[in-house]
Amino acid sequence: MSRLTVTGHAQIIDEIDRYLAAPPRRLRFGGELETRFQDERALLNGKMVHLSGVLGVISFNIGVAGAIGVGFVGANHVFRLTLLALALIDTPILATLALLGRRPSLARRIDRVSIANCTFSTLGLIAINNNLDGQIALYQAFSMVMLPVTFNIISNVSFSTALWLAALYMPALLLNAHLNPTFSFAAAAFMSFMYVYAAGLSLLANYRIELAERKNYLNFVRENLRNAELSVLSRTDALTGLANRRDFDARFAAEVEHARSNGRPLAVIVADIDHFKFYNDKLGHPEGDKCIRSVAQALAEAAGPAPNFAGRIGGEEFALVLPEAGVDAAAAAAARLRNGVEALRLPHPALGDRRIVSVSLGVACLNPACPEAPDALLSRADAALYRAKRAGRDRAEFDLRVVGA
Ligand code: GH3
Ligand code: MG
Ligand code: MG
Repeated sequence: MSRLTVTGHAQIIDEIDRYLAAPPRRLRFGGELETRFQDERALLNGKMVHLSGVLGVISFNIGVAGAIGVGFVGANHVFRLTLLALALIDTPILATLALLGRRPSLARRIDRVSIANCTFSTLGLIAINNNLDGQIALYQAFSMVMLPVTFNIISNVSFSTALWLAALYMPALLLNAHLNPTFSFAAAAFMSFMYVYAAGLSLLANYRIELAERKNYLNFVRENLRNAELSVLSRTDALTGLANRRDFDARFAAEVEHARSNGRPLAVIVADIDHFKFYNDKLGHPEGDKCIRSVAQALAEAAGPAPNFAGRIGGEEFALVLPEAGVDAAAAAAARLRNGVEALRLPHPALGDRRIVSVSLGVACLNPACPEAPDALLSRADAALYRAKRAGRDRAEFDLRVVGA
Protein backbone atom coordinates (compact mmCIF):
# COMPACT_ATOMS: atom_id res chain seq x y z
CA MET A 1 0.00 0.00 0.00
CA SER A 2 1.50 3.31 -1.08
CA ARG A 3 1.24 6.18 1.36
CA LEU A 4 -1.78 8.38 0.92
CA THR A 5 -1.27 11.93 -0.27
CA VAL A 6 -3.77 14.63 -1.19
CA THR A 7 -3.50 15.35 -4.92
CA GLY A 8 -6.62 15.31 -7.10
CA HIS A 9 -10.09 14.30 -5.99
CA ALA A 10 -10.44 11.23 -8.19
CA GLN A 11 -6.98 10.00 -7.27
CA ILE A 12 -7.44 10.42 -3.56
CA ILE A 13 -10.86 8.75 -3.63
CA ASP A 14 -9.19 5.78 -5.38
CA GLU A 15 -6.44 5.68 -2.78
CA ILE A 16 -8.93 5.86 0.07
CA ASP A 17 -10.94 3.01 -1.51
CA ARG A 18 -7.81 0.87 -1.69
CA TYR A 19 -6.80 1.76 1.87
CA LEU A 20 -10.22 0.90 3.26
CA ALA A 21 -10.35 -2.38 1.31
CA ALA A 22 -7.11 -3.55 2.94
CA PRO A 23 -6.08 -1.25 5.80
CA PRO A 24 -2.35 -1.53 6.53
CA ARG A 25 -1.33 -2.37 10.08
CA ARG A 26 0.83 0.71 10.29
CA LEU A 27 -1.07 3.69 11.66
CA ARG A 28 0.08 6.35 9.23
CA PHE A 29 -1.33 7.85 6.03
CA GLY A 30 1.54 10.07 4.98
CA GLY A 31 1.64 13.49 3.40
CA GLU A 32 -1.00 16.15 3.88
CA LEU A 33 -3.71 13.66 4.76
CA GLU A 34 -1.78 12.61 7.88
CA THR A 35 -1.40 16.26 8.95
CA ARG A 36 -5.12 16.86 8.45
CA PHE A 37 -6.02 13.69 10.33
CA GLN A 38 -3.80 14.68 13.27
CA ASP A 39 -5.43 18.13 13.41
CA GLU A 40 -8.93 16.67 13.24
CA ARG A 41 -8.14 14.08 15.89
CA ALA A 42 -6.59 16.63 18.23
CA LEU A 43 -9.70 18.77 17.93
CA LEU A 44 -12.04 15.85 18.56
CA ASN A 45 -10.03 14.74 21.59
CA GLY A 46 -9.69 18.31 22.83
CA LYS A 47 -12.92 18.36 24.84
CA MET A 48 -12.04 15.13 26.65
CA VAL A 49 -8.52 16.38 27.37
CA HIS A 50 -9.90 19.66 28.67
CA LEU A 51 -12.28 17.82 30.99
CA SER A 52 -9.63 15.42 32.25
CA GLY A 53 -7.23 18.35 32.82
CA VAL A 54 -9.81 20.28 34.86
CA LEU A 55 -10.84 17.18 36.84
CA GLY A 56 -7.16 16.32 37.32
CA VAL A 57 -6.33 19.72 38.82
CA ILE A 58 -9.32 19.56 41.18
CA SER A 59 -9.05 15.93 42.30
CA PHE A 60 -5.26 15.96 42.62
CA ASN A 61 -5.22 19.05 44.81
CA ILE A 62 -8.18 17.93 46.91
CA GLY A 63 -6.36 14.61 47.37
CA VAL A 64 -3.13 16.26 48.49
CA ALA A 65 -4.89 18.77 50.74
CA GLY A 66 -7.10 16.02 52.19
CA ALA A 67 -4.17 13.67 52.85
CA ILE A 68 -2.25 16.37 54.67
CA GLY A 69 -5.35 17.85 56.37
CA VAL A 70 -6.78 14.65 57.85
CA GLY A 71 -3.44 13.63 59.21
CA PHE A 72 -3.11 10.62 56.91
CA VAL A 73 0.45 11.72 56.29
CA GLY A 74 1.14 11.85 59.99
CA ALA A 75 4.37 13.40 61.12
CA ASN A 76 6.22 12.21 58.02
CA HIS A 77 7.70 15.47 56.76
CA VAL A 78 9.33 13.85 53.73
CA PHE A 79 5.91 12.55 52.64
CA ARG A 80 4.35 15.94 53.27
CA LEU A 81 7.01 17.68 51.16
CA THR A 82 6.73 15.03 48.43
CA LEU A 83 3.00 15.63 48.16
CA LEU A 84 3.41 19.39 48.07
CA ALA A 85 6.13 19.14 45.41
CA LEU A 86 3.88 16.90 43.31
CA ALA A 87 0.99 19.33 43.62
CA LEU A 88 3.27 22.16 42.54
CA ILE A 89 4.60 20.25 39.51
CA ASP A 90 1.51 18.38 38.35
CA THR A 91 -1.01 21.22 38.75
CA PRO A 92 0.56 23.36 35.97
CA ILE A 93 0.88 20.30 33.72
CA LEU A 94 -2.78 19.35 34.19
CA ALA A 95 -3.83 22.99 33.81
CA THR A 96 -1.84 23.14 30.53
CA LEU A 97 -3.72 20.07 29.31
CA ALA A 98 -7.03 21.71 30.24
CA LEU A 99 -5.97 24.82 28.30
CA LEU A 100 -4.71 22.95 25.23
CA GLY A 101 -7.96 21.01 25.03
CA ARG A 102 -9.82 24.32 24.73
CA ARG A 103 -7.53 25.93 22.15
CA PRO A 104 -7.98 24.41 18.67
CA SER A 105 -4.76 26.01 17.41
CA LEU A 106 -2.73 24.35 20.19
CA ALA A 107 -4.55 21.02 20.22
CA ARG A 108 -1.72 19.21 18.43
CA ARG A 109 0.56 19.73 21.44
CA ILE A 110 -1.71 17.61 23.62
CA ASP A 111 0.26 14.39 23.12
CA ARG A 112 3.53 16.04 24.14
CA VAL A 113 2.07 17.44 27.34
CA SER A 114 0.53 14.01 27.99
CA ILE A 115 4.06 12.58 28.03
CA ALA A 116 5.03 15.09 30.73
CA ASN A 117 1.82 14.36 32.62
CA CYS A 118 2.47 10.62 32.44
CA THR A 119 6.07 10.99 33.62
CA PHE A 120 5.21 13.08 36.65
CA SER A 121 2.08 11.10 37.54
CA THR A 122 4.07 7.85 37.49
CA LEU A 123 6.96 9.27 39.46
CA GLY A 124 4.53 10.94 41.87
CA LEU A 125 2.57 7.76 42.54
CA ILE A 126 5.80 5.83 43.04
CA ALA A 127 7.06 8.51 45.44
CA ILE A 128 3.79 8.26 47.38
CA ASN A 129 4.07 4.46 47.36
CA ASN A 130 7.47 4.64 48.97
CA ASN A 131 6.12 6.79 51.77
CA LEU A 132 3.21 4.51 52.62
CA ASP A 133 3.34 1.68 55.10
CA GLY A 134 2.49 -2.02 54.85
CA GLN A 135 -0.90 -3.02 53.47
CA ILE A 136 -1.74 0.50 52.25
CA ALA A 137 1.45 0.54 50.16
CA LEU A 138 0.45 -2.81 48.66
CA TYR A 139 -3.06 -1.62 47.75
CA GLN A 140 -1.74 1.60 46.31
CA ALA A 141 0.88 -0.27 44.24
CA PHE A 142 -1.87 -2.49 42.77
CA SER A 143 -4.04 0.54 42.04
CA MET A 144 -1.33 1.76 39.70
CA VAL A 145 -2.60 -0.69 37.04
CA MET A 146 -4.98 2.19 36.29
CA LEU A 147 -2.09 4.27 34.92
CA PRO A 148 -1.83 2.59 31.49
CA VAL A 149 -5.62 2.32 31.28
CA THR A 150 -5.96 6.05 31.92
CA PHE A 151 -3.38 7.08 29.34
CA ASN A 152 -4.26 4.58 26.62
CA ILE A 153 -8.03 4.69 26.83
CA ILE A 154 -9.25 7.71 28.78
CA SER A 155 -6.69 10.28 27.55
CA ASN A 156 -6.70 8.42 24.22
CA VAL A 157 -3.19 9.49 23.20
CA SER A 158 -2.12 8.35 19.73
CA PHE A 159 -0.77 4.81 19.51
CA SER A 160 2.79 5.97 18.85
CA THR A 161 2.65 8.21 21.95
CA ALA A 162 1.08 5.34 23.91
CA LEU A 163 4.14 3.19 23.07
CA TRP A 164 6.47 5.95 24.24
CA LEU A 165 4.51 6.29 27.46
CA ALA A 166 4.67 2.52 28.06
CA ALA A 167 8.46 2.70 27.64
CA LEU A 168 8.45 5.31 30.42
CA TYR A 169 6.04 3.92 32.99
CA MET A 170 6.57 0.17 32.61
CA PRO A 171 10.23 0.05 33.79
CA ALA A 172 9.36 2.49 36.60
CA LEU A 173 6.38 0.41 37.80
CA LEU A 174 8.25 -2.91 37.53
CA LEU A 175 11.31 -1.57 39.35
CA ASN A 176 9.09 -0.14 42.10
CA ALA A 177 7.32 -3.50 42.53
CA HIS A 178 10.58 -5.42 42.89
CA LEU A 179 12.69 -2.91 44.80
CA ASN A 180 10.16 -2.11 47.53
CA PRO A 181 11.45 -4.18 50.50
CA THR A 182 7.97 -4.38 52.08
CA PHE A 183 6.52 -6.42 49.17
CA SER A 184 6.92 -10.18 49.14
CA PHE A 185 8.28 -11.78 45.95
CA ALA A 186 4.83 -13.27 45.22
CA ALA A 187 3.12 -9.87 45.61
CA ALA A 188 5.74 -8.21 43.39
CA ALA A 189 5.39 -10.94 40.74
CA PHE A 190 1.60 -10.74 40.75
CA MET A 191 1.77 -6.95 40.63
CA SER A 192 4.17 -7.09 37.63
CA PHE A 193 1.84 -9.47 35.85
CA MET A 194 -1.08 -7.08 36.41
CA TYR A 195 0.94 -4.11 35.10
CA VAL A 196 1.99 -5.98 31.94
CA TYR A 197 -1.51 -7.33 31.44
CA ALA A 198 -3.22 -3.92 31.89
CA ALA A 199 -0.65 -2.17 29.67
CA GLY A 200 -0.89 -4.84 26.95
CA LEU A 201 -4.69 -4.88 26.84
CA SER A 202 -5.08 -1.11 26.96
CA LEU A 203 -2.41 -0.68 24.25
CA LEU A 204 -4.37 -3.10 22.09
CA ALA A 205 -7.56 -1.12 22.77
CA ASN A 206 -5.71 2.12 21.96
CA TYR A 207 -4.48 0.64 18.66
CA ARG A 208 -7.97 -0.47 17.70
CA ILE A 209 -9.47 2.92 18.63
CA GLU A 210 -6.94 4.73 16.43
CA LEU A 211 -7.47 2.29 13.57
CA ALA A 212 -11.23 2.93 13.78
CA GLU A 213 -10.65 6.69 14.02
CA ARG A 214 -8.52 6.54 10.88
CA LYS A 215 -11.12 4.52 8.98
CA ASN A 216 -13.89 6.90 10.07
CA TYR A 217 -11.79 9.84 9.02
CA LEU A 218 -11.18 8.36 5.56
CA ASN A 219 -14.89 7.66 5.13
CA PHE A 220 -15.59 11.25 6.15
CA VAL A 221 -13.00 12.65 3.70
CA ARG A 222 -14.29 10.40 0.90
CA GLU A 223 -17.89 11.51 1.48
CA ASN A 224 -16.86 15.16 1.48
CA LEU A 225 -14.87 14.77 -1.74
CA ARG A 226 -17.72 12.91 -3.41
CA ASN A 227 -20.21 15.57 -2.34
CA ALA A 228 -17.91 18.28 -3.65
CA GLU A 229 -17.62 16.43 -6.97
CA LEU A 230 -21.38 15.93 -7.19
CA SER A 231 -21.92 19.57 -6.41
CA VAL A 232 -19.57 20.58 -9.28
CA LEU A 233 -21.24 18.08 -11.63
CA SER A 234 -24.70 19.37 -10.76
CA ARG A 235 -23.61 22.87 -11.76
CA THR A 236 -21.63 22.06 -14.91
CA ASP A 237 -22.84 21.49 -18.46
CA ALA A 238 -21.55 18.05 -19.46
CA LEU A 239 -20.94 18.86 -23.12
CA THR A 240 -19.09 22.17 -22.78
CA GLY A 241 -17.88 22.37 -19.18
CA LEU A 242 -19.51 25.82 -18.86
CA ALA A 243 -21.99 26.68 -16.11
CA ASN A 244 -25.28 24.89 -16.84
CA ARG A 245 -28.62 26.66 -16.91
CA ARG A 246 -29.32 26.12 -13.21
CA ASP A 247 -25.93 27.44 -12.13
CA PHE A 248 -26.11 30.27 -14.64
CA ASP A 249 -29.51 31.40 -13.34
CA ALA A 250 -28.32 31.34 -9.72
CA ARG A 251 -25.06 33.19 -10.40
CA PHE A 252 -26.68 35.67 -12.78
CA ALA A 253 -29.37 36.53 -10.20
CA ALA A 254 -26.69 36.96 -7.53
CA GLU A 255 -24.57 39.25 -9.77
CA VAL A 256 -27.58 41.36 -10.77
CA GLU A 257 -28.54 41.72 -7.12
CA HIS A 258 -24.96 42.65 -6.20
CA ALA A 259 -24.74 45.24 -9.01
CA ARG A 260 -28.09 46.74 -8.07
CA SER A 261 -27.44 47.02 -4.37
CA ASN A 262 -23.99 48.55 -4.97
CA GLY A 263 -25.04 50.83 -7.82
CA ARG A 264 -22.55 49.14 -10.18
CA PRO A 265 -22.95 48.48 -13.92
CA LEU A 266 -23.43 44.99 -15.40
CA ALA A 267 -23.90 43.68 -18.92
CA VAL A 268 -25.19 40.40 -20.33
CA ILE A 269 -24.61 39.01 -23.81
CA VAL A 270 -26.69 36.16 -25.23
CA ALA A 271 -25.13 34.26 -28.12
CA ASP A 272 -26.77 31.85 -30.54
CA ILE A 273 -25.06 29.83 -33.28
CA ASP A 274 -26.37 30.80 -36.70
CA HIS A 275 -28.21 28.24 -38.83
CA PHE A 276 -27.21 25.47 -36.53
CA LYS A 277 -30.07 23.22 -37.49
CA PHE A 278 -28.68 23.10 -41.04
CA TYR A 279 -25.22 22.36 -39.64
CA ASN A 280 -26.60 19.40 -37.70
CA ASP A 281 -28.63 18.18 -40.64
CA LYS A 282 -25.64 18.32 -42.98
CA LEU A 283 -22.85 17.02 -40.74
CA GLY A 284 -24.71 14.99 -38.14
CA HIS A 285 -25.26 15.39 -34.41
CA PRO A 286 -21.76 14.34 -33.24
CA GLU A 287 -20.16 17.01 -35.45
CA GLY A 288 -22.78 19.43 -34.14
CA ASP A 289 -21.65 18.61 -30.60
CA LYS A 290 -18.02 19.30 -31.52
CA CYS A 291 -19.03 22.63 -32.96
CA ILE A 292 -20.94 23.56 -29.77
CA ARG A 293 -17.85 22.66 -27.71
CA SER A 294 -15.56 24.81 -29.86
CA VAL A 295 -17.90 27.81 -29.72
CA ALA A 296 -18.19 27.36 -25.94
CA GLN A 297 -14.39 27.42 -25.67
CA ALA A 298 -14.23 30.66 -27.66
CA LEU A 299 -16.95 32.07 -25.41
CA ALA A 300 -15.07 31.15 -22.24
CA GLU A 301 -11.94 32.85 -23.60
CA ALA A 302 -13.87 35.96 -24.55
CA ALA A 303 -15.39 36.09 -21.06
CA GLY A 304 -11.98 36.66 -19.50
CA PRO A 305 -11.26 36.31 -15.78
CA ALA A 306 -13.80 36.21 -12.90
CA PRO A 307 -16.16 37.74 -11.95
CA ASN A 308 -17.10 37.43 -15.67
CA PHE A 309 -18.56 34.05 -16.49
CA ALA A 310 -20.20 32.16 -19.34
CA GLY A 311 -22.99 29.59 -19.31
CA ARG A 312 -24.83 27.33 -21.74
CA ILE A 313 -28.45 28.36 -21.41
CA GLY A 314 -29.96 26.29 -24.21
CA GLY A 315 -29.07 23.84 -27.01
CA GLU A 316 -26.79 26.15 -29.01
CA GLU A 317 -27.41 29.24 -26.92
CA PHE A 318 -24.98 30.76 -24.48
CA ALA A 319 -24.80 33.77 -22.22
CA LEU A 320 -21.93 35.85 -20.97
CA VAL A 321 -22.28 37.86 -17.76
CA LEU A 322 -19.99 40.87 -17.36
CA PRO A 323 -20.21 42.44 -13.88
CA GLU A 324 -18.79 45.98 -13.78
CA ALA A 325 -19.14 46.30 -17.59
CA GLY A 326 -20.82 49.38 -19.08
CA VAL A 327 -21.80 49.72 -22.76
CA ASP A 328 -18.20 50.13 -24.00
CA ALA A 329 -16.84 47.12 -22.12
CA ALA A 330 -19.83 45.04 -23.26
CA ALA A 331 -19.25 46.07 -26.91
CA ALA A 332 -15.57 45.12 -26.58
CA ALA A 333 -16.51 41.70 -25.14
CA ALA A 334 -19.04 41.17 -27.95
CA ALA A 335 -16.36 41.96 -30.53
CA ARG A 336 -13.91 39.58 -28.81
CA LEU A 337 -16.53 36.86 -28.85
CA ARG A 338 -17.44 37.25 -32.53
CA ASN A 339 -13.74 37.40 -33.51
CA GLY A 340 -13.04 34.33 -31.39
CA VAL A 341 -15.74 32.28 -33.14
CA GLU A 342 -14.61 33.57 -36.52
CA ALA A 343 -11.02 32.60 -35.74
CA LEU A 344 -12.17 28.99 -35.24
CA ARG A 345 -12.90 28.93 -38.99
CA LEU A 346 -15.28 26.01 -38.66
CA PRO A 347 -16.67 25.30 -42.17
CA HIS A 348 -20.47 25.46 -42.42
CA PRO A 349 -20.99 23.43 -45.65
CA ALA A 350 -24.78 23.73 -45.43
CA LEU A 351 -24.46 27.44 -46.25
CA GLY A 352 -22.00 27.17 -49.13
CA ASP A 353 -18.37 26.31 -49.65
CA ARG A 354 -16.86 29.47 -48.23
CA ARG A 355 -19.13 30.01 -45.26
CA ILE A 356 -17.99 29.41 -41.69
CA VAL A 357 -19.84 29.02 -38.38
CA SER A 358 -20.87 32.37 -36.87
CA VAL A 359 -22.86 33.61 -33.92
CA SER A 360 -25.43 36.34 -33.42
CA LEU A 361 -25.36 38.32 -30.21
CA GLY A 362 -27.83 40.32 -28.16
CA VAL A 363 -26.37 42.70 -25.57
CA ALA A 364 -28.19 44.44 -22.71
CA CYS A 365 -26.83 46.62 -19.91
CA LEU A 366 -28.27 47.04 -16.45
CA ASN A 367 -29.14 50.50 -15.25
CA PRO A 368 -27.76 50.44 -11.69
CA ALA A 369 -30.20 53.15 -10.64
CA CYS A 370 -33.22 51.06 -11.61
CA PRO A 371 -34.54 47.88 -9.98
CA GLU A 372 -34.73 45.42 -12.87
CA ALA A 373 -35.23 41.69 -12.36
CA PRO A 374 -32.61 39.32 -13.86
CA ASP A 375 -35.28 37.79 -16.12
CA ALA A 376 -36.22 41.20 -17.50
CA LEU A 377 -32.59 42.00 -18.27
CA LEU A 378 -32.14 38.65 -20.02
CA SER A 379 -35.34 39.24 -22.01
CA ARG A 380 -33.95 42.54 -23.26
CA ALA A 381 -30.77 40.76 -24.38
CA ASP A 382 -32.92 38.06 -26.05
CA ALA A 383 -34.93 40.69 -27.89
CA ALA A 384 -31.67 42.25 -29.14
CA LEU A 385 -30.54 38.80 -30.29
CA TYR A 386 -33.79 38.36 -32.19
CA ARG A 387 -33.13 41.66 -33.97
CA ALA A 388 -29.61 40.47 -34.87
CA LYS A 389 -31.08 37.31 -36.40
CA ARG A 390 -33.64 39.25 -38.34
CA ALA A 391 -31.04 41.70 -39.58
CA GLY A 392 -29.09 38.88 -41.23
CA ARG A 393 -27.21 37.10 -38.40
CA ASP A 394 -23.41 37.13 -37.72
CA ARG A 395 -23.67 40.42 -35.84
CA ALA A 396 -24.33 41.98 -32.42
CA GLU A 397 -27.34 44.10 -31.55
CA PHE A 398 -27.55 46.24 -28.42
CA ASP A 399 -30.48 47.08 -26.20
CA LEU A 400 -29.48 50.55 -25.17
CA ARG A 401 -32.72 51.48 -23.48
CA VAL A 402 -32.06 53.03 -20.12
CA VAL A 403 -34.69 51.21 -18.16
CA GLY A 404 -36.18 53.24 -15.33
CA ALA A 405 -34.93 56.58 -16.69
P1 GH3 B 1 -30.85 30.48 -36.12
O1 GH3 B 1 -29.72 31.03 -36.92
O2 GH3 B 1 -32.10 31.24 -36.29
O3 GH3 B 1 -30.49 30.37 -34.70
O4 GH3 B 1 -31.13 29.04 -36.69
P2 GH3 B 1 -30.85 27.69 -35.98
O5 GH3 B 1 -30.98 26.62 -36.98
O6 GH3 B 1 -29.56 27.73 -35.25
O7 GH3 B 1 -31.99 27.67 -34.87
P3 GH3 B 1 -32.86 26.55 -34.29
O8 GH3 B 1 -33.22 26.97 -32.90
O9 GH3 B 1 -34.01 26.29 -35.24
O10 GH3 B 1 -31.97 25.25 -34.21
C1 GH3 B 1 -31.16 24.94 -33.17
C2 GH3 B 1 -30.66 23.56 -33.37
O11 GH3 B 1 -29.69 23.21 -32.42
C3 GH3 B 1 -31.77 22.55 -33.32
C4 GH3 B 1 -31.17 21.40 -32.51
O12 GH3 B 1 -31.19 20.19 -33.21
C5 GH3 B 1 -29.74 21.80 -32.30
N1 GH3 B 1 -29.26 21.40 -31.00
C6 GH3 B 1 -29.74 21.78 -29.81
N2 GH3 B 1 -29.00 21.20 -28.80
C7 GH3 B 1 -28.04 20.45 -29.41
C8 GH3 B 1 -26.99 19.64 -28.93
O13 GH3 B 1 -26.75 19.47 -27.72
N3 GH3 B 1 -26.18 19.03 -29.85
C9 GH3 B 1 -26.39 19.20 -31.17
N4 GH3 B 1 -25.56 18.58 -32.02
N5 GH3 B 1 -27.39 19.96 -31.63
C10 GH3 B 1 -28.21 20.58 -30.79
MG1 MG C 1 -29.26 29.10 -33.71
MG1 MG D 1 -31.32 28.72 -30.80
